[in-house]
Amino acid sequence: MALEKVFNNRILLADLTTGKCEERELGDKLAREQLGGAALNLELLRRFPEGEPLVIGTGLLTSTFCPGAGVGVVTAKSPRSGLVVHHPFIGMIGIELKLSGFDFIVVRGRSEKPVRLWLHDELAEVSPAGEVKELGTNQVTGRIRDEYGDMNIHAFQVGPAGAAGSPLAMISESCFGGYDRAGLGLALAEKGLYALVVRGLGNLEVADGFFPESAKLMQETAQSLKGKTGIKEILRLWAKEDSFLPALEKVTHRHSACYSCPFPCRTFGFLREDPARKLETDASNPGCLLIDPQGVLALSFLGNDYPHVYEHCTQLGVDPAAVGLILKAEGIGDKEAADKRIEALVKEKKDLINSNQNNFHGVTPWPDGGDLSAALVQAAGVFSNGIPPAVLPLSTPPFSLPSDPVEKAALVLERTALGLILGVCPLLLLSTPVITPARLATLVKLATEWDGIGEEELKAKAKSLIGQTLKLAAPRGAISEGLKPAGFDAAWAGLKKRYVEG
Ligand code: SF4
Repeated sequence: MALEKVFNNRILLADLTTGKCEERELGDKLAREQLGGAALNLELLRRFPEGEPLVIGTGLLTSTFCPGAGVGVVTAKSPRSGLVVHHPFIGMIGIELKLSGFDFIVVRGRSEKPVRLWLHDELAEVSPAGEVKELGTNQVTGRIRDEYGDMNIHAFQVGPAGAAGSPLAMISESCFGGYDRAGLGLALAEKGLYALVVRGLGNLEVADGFFPESAKLMQETAQSLKGKTGIKEILRLWAKEDSFLPALEKVTHRHSACYSCPFPCRTFGFLREDPARKLETDASNPGCLLIDPQGVLALSFLGNDYPHVYEHCTQLGVDPAAVGLILKAEGIGDKEAADKRIEALVKEKKDLINSNQNNFHGVTPWPDGGDLSAALVQAAGVFSNGIPPAVLPLSTPPFSLPSDPVEKAALVLERTALGLILGVCPLLLLSTPVITPARLATLVKLATEWDGIGEEELKAKAKSLIGQTLKLAAPRGAISEGLKPAGFDAAWAGLKKRYVEG
């Protein structure tokens, strides 16, 4: 076995009630059984049930050369839906976390005062975080980086929305929001954990043959998505028309990709600087990275104002998809009114669960309510609804899709599950069929030298993760009738049977 080529062999138990951190060995046996990421998170929730745990973990391939392998996962009960959810963090935090020397963190208990957890060089420390309470996520990130003198530090944060107890608070990844639709920002804030700060200066050994196999897959992935750049590629698939485009083009400065990813699906908008500027800017905060297609789409009805309002949501740490749904329903149509209302929504602890807005157990839907398979993926609520509930027709060759909506939903759920077990970006896995379970199994085999590991085991683990998570479901609220296309009830029963009984 070659655990040191994928993990540090270290689990951290962080008890926020006492402020104490303990370590446990991950061990070959647990890693071999659960593989990693969301599946191992779920097992740790079961093994350490005291103190309302929330588990933050890295995938089996996180921080390796595999395409898109920069992803980590939070697994916890959502305060919004009541469902156990696996929420991906896709920017740099997964990599920094793995290279800080910790593979999994079980956060237990509750601190009376706001604290931060600082992980670096195989060390963990709980310390006060009172100063971050009122600051926007950008300011907090800047302050922490200044304090430690390192611009590569990253931080999960609850933002002012989490500090204020808003159910719409999301986990923000450093400065620019995230994909949390489950209110996990509130879950962290209720534990008193206002920031998880990470810096990874370690490394993983590279197995023989791993790099060339990764490079080959990277090249084929890039080829399949050739010419696709920016968040517009994803928005276009969900917006009824291109009305979101002019405002986006007006601010677009560049497109960027995460670690080891050949598809730059993120767009940096210059909001306080000329987007045509090529030279480095003196402005300390020229704009905002637009990373969250659902959030951007939900606010796009605001026309030219929406990138600014999106940025406001990310600074407060409030779910922009839910905010967009509410603002639109209230007839708010400009930045000034939107900014005021967003602050008020946070203060009044507005929730979707008892609102008139269509929602999946309190979670904002994607547009296009008529697609049955997309409705099924969202109804399952197993993964963050910030991830698209469909494969994205962006690649050549395209996905070969089953016609049955249950099978189609299963394809999306199982690719997402595989990504969150291995630490590979689910957005990338939903964008190209080139990264198959078989190709991923080859990389896993090379890295771990595990006997018998192969495509079938990866697929079975993905299915089992969905089934085990669905079995834990104790949802709040309901699925709005307006989100159930014809045939929904029978198809939903079929999907549950496939995973819960199958
Ligand atoms: S597909 Fe987009 S979100 Fe995923 S790793 Fe690549 S750049 Fe990041």
